[in-house]
Amino acid sequence: MLAAPPIPDNEEARLAALEDYQLLDTAPEDVFDAFARAAAQVCGAPIGLITLVDRDRQFFKANIGLTELSETPRNVSFCAYAILQDGIMEVPDAHVDERFRTNPLVTGDPRIRFYAGVPLVVSGGAALGTLCVLDRTPHELSIEQRTALRAIADAVVEAVEARRAMLRLFDSSHAEIYHLDPTERRLIFASQAARTNLGYTLAELRDLTLADLLPEMSIVDRYDAFLEQMRAATKGGATFLSQARRKNGSTYPVEVSAELMPTRGNEIALLFFTDLTERIEANSRIELLSAAVETAQDAIIITTPPPDAQTSPTIVYANDAYLRQKQIALEGVIGKPTSAFFGPKSDRSGLVEFREKMLAGQSAQIEHITYRSDGSEYYTEVAGRPMIGADGTVTHFVIVTRDITEAVMRGMTLELQNERLTALTSIARDLFSALDPRALAQSLLVGVRELTGGEGRLLALRSDGALVDTDDLGVAPGAPDAGDAFLRTALTAPISVLDDENRRLAIGILGAGRRTAFMLDVRAGEAAFVAADVFAFGLLAQYFAVAARNVELYRELAARRSSVVELNQVKNDLIAMLAHDFKGPLTTIVGFADVLAEDERFDDESRQFLAMISSSALRLASLATDTLALSRLEQNDFSLHVEPVDLNELVRDVARIFSVTRTIDIRAGDGPHLVTGDRGRLRQVFENIVGNAIKYSPGGETVEIRIRDTSDGVEVSVRDRGIGIPDSDRAKLFGRFARASNARELGIGGTGFGLYLAKRIVEMHGGTIVVSTRVNVGSTFKIALPNSPKPQQSVNRRVLLLDADGDARSYIAHTLREDGMAITVVGTEDEVVDALDAGAFDAAVIDVDLIGRDEAAFIGRVARRTALVRLGAAGIPAESGWDAALGKPFLIKDLRESVDRAIGRHAASLK
Ligand code: ADP
Repeated sequence: MLAAPPIPDNEEARLAALEDYQLLDTAPEDVFDAFARAAAQVCGAPIGLITLVDRDRQFFKANIGLTELSETPRNVSFCAYAILQDGIMEVPDAHVDERFRTNPLVTGDPRIRFYAGVPLVVSGGAALGTLCVLDRTPHELSIEQRTALRAIADAVVEAVEARRAMLRLFDSSHAEIYHLDPTERRLIFASQAARTNLGYTLAELRDLTLADLLPEMSIVDRYDAFLEQMRAATKGGATFLSQARRKNGSTYPVEVSAELMPTRGNEIALLFFTDLTERIEANSRIELLSAAVETAQDAIIITTPPPDAQTSPTIVYANDAYLRQKQIALEGVIGKPTSAFFGPKSDRSGLVEFREKMLAGQSAQIEHITYRSDGSEYYTEVAGRPMIGADGTVTHFVIVTRDITEAVMRGMTLELQNERLTALTSIARDLFSALDPRALAQSLLVGVRELTGGEGRLLALRSDGALVDTDDLGVAPGAPDAGDAFLRTALTAPISVLDDENRRLAIGILGAGRRTAFMLDVRAGEAAFVAADVFAFGLLAQYFAVAARNVELYRELAARRSSVVELNQVKNDLIAMLAHDFKGPLTTIVGFADVLAEDERFDDESRQFLAMISSSALRLASLATDTLALSRLEQNDFSLHVEPVDLNELVRDVARIFSVTRTIDIRAGDGPHLVTGDRGRLRQVFENIVGNAIKYSPGGETVEIRIRDTSDGVEVSVRDRGIGIPDSDRAKLFGRFARASNARELGIGGTGFGLYLAKRIVEMHGGTIVVSTRVNVGSTFKIALPNSPKPQQSVNRRVLLLDADGDARSYIAHTLREDGMAITVVGTEDEVVDALDAGAFDAAVIDVDLIGRDEAAFIGRVARRTALVRLGAAGIPAESGWDAALGKPFLIKDLRESVDRAIGRHAASLK
């Protein structure tokens, strides 16, 4: 049994090296055959081989004289032994060598007797195989032969190394390189890059023909034409475009350049494939991009970079949009500096900055004004990007210019609009605060001027359709109509109309009933009207319409109000007169009734009648006193004469009078219940309260009166069990002429000013009056009076009023009097000063329209003498020196508040 040859220690590394050198299974090559032949000849042997010892076999890379074999199994291999040692292994006679005696190559064909082999040790130390010679007869090598054999082996190794170096080069080159046997059309070699792209291993490739790689080559005659082409090429070989097919069936565009490399015997074709996929993609991308640039809406230019940022770059390319933007032909642009399109408004320092950035390799943006070839200007947004070359320098600027004029204009219009609206707000304020027609018309025309610098004219529409100038909203009768055609057009237009030059605008203004009542006719100032102006005038007209309506309402209100005030005045006078005229006769009646009652001649019944006459007359007299008091109160002619008053005595006295008609249960302490007050006025209060208690308990129920001392005064409560007062009416009962609904419904007569008067009198004494009540259960009035009166309460504030309307017509005076203030009305600035000289006032309310322009001078005359409230047109800031200010028109409640605030501030300022 033949023993298998031993395996070298470095077997795995050796096999890897064998793979690396890419010699196994490759076709015979002249150079190696030559070495094998030389070795055989030198050694005088018929057979010369170059073998490669693979894992299980030995492959013959070169084979001289043993052509019937191309490889053998490793276990019969002589070389498998030879690669184990350093130098030559020589087997002179295989028949006597234990290792080979039974080797089938020895016992059978080719009947080997002699073997001499030199291991082919490559760099890295692995022995790939041998250069060996064989003979069929025993043999022995001379020293010279051995030396020569070794030298040839070294040469083989050199050749193997060189071959590998070349393959390495191919592999590392990323080039797709193939070796082709042109006669067999078989592939011998493919570089790493080629194998990777195709997806084949080297071994797989060796089974392929060129047509497997380039399907085109399977076409009849194509391959021959290719060969022809290669042969015909004198230098650089043949080049053509084709499609290459990968192992997975996919194809890719390829540029093939092929060259024949003549070798002795057969020739080799060297093929270079260039994958065109990326190049084609890039190309089509470029095509696409240039198409895009050409058709882009944005204007694009390419320039060479300027030497410095101060210099304009030169245009080398411009797209269609750019030419359109500049309204110029290409010749007018190419080679020109970009500054050719700058003008007075161009942002030169911005442009320097823009170039600086780009020269530094950064993108840059700028917004600036540029010019067309005809000199017209437009707003642009410019974006630039430098192109950087392989050496890192800026080679070009790509500059994209967008016309943003429209957007800029829109923005400016917005800004203008904003300005107009701001102006409008203050104009609107003036319009709405104008309370008379003249002031309103004035405010309108001032507003027109403020808004656009234009001059305006207000016209009113007469019932006969004529338009007439007005400065008080009124329509002058018979004034001639100018018959302006422009205005006639405006009259029928639903919106404002502009003339052709945008320099005149007319707008109809609606009055009551949504019919045109006025016309605003405006002529432009410096600048022609723009859309924002038209819009603003539209609003102004609307404001004016509302304000005109307000003025109308205000006039009506004023007319009504003065008639109320007048009426009130008449009533006051009448009451005063009546009361006076009443008192005398009534006193006489009472006097005589009392005298008669003393007369013995009357029986009891008659005396009772006389008492009734007396008490009725007294009540009539007290009613007269009431009305007189009321009238005085309103005239500010009401004063208290204070003295110590015993309420126990006073209330009992009042009760005695009423005891004729009703049972009155009165309880009090023993002694006097003293307060300080006006006896007559206090009597009036209790007569009223007790009288009411009786009047509003029509069932005749007993009235209870309680009098008691409190910590600081006396409290009197008067309780009835009558109709009570509904909750909804209770709050207003102490107001003038207020009557509860149930009292009216029950037909109980009254005037409604008794409680008002009572409350005023009690409060003037520093006391309080309150009621607790329930409908159909009864009411209790509690009057609390202090032992000594406190200083005058706010209820009786003295207020000086400067009012154009005068006392009789002053609505303000009327209303403040309602609130219990003592009002003195004057009509001029001098009268204000006189009044302040003559008496003390808590506050002065001054209508500044009556003191002329010089507010400061007025303040100087009255400063610090009283609290000052300013009444004036809204929007004008108050001069310093006023304690409070109120814009016209105002609400009465705001006036009250202002008076309070002014008094507070004035008091504080005096401290
Ligand atoms: P008049 O002259 O109507 O009595 P007053 O000012 O004295 O006027 O009273 C105002 C209103 O208060 C009365 O009209 C009545 O409705 C209501 N009133 C006053 N006192 C009483 C009471 N004791 N019981 C019920 N209602 C009363």
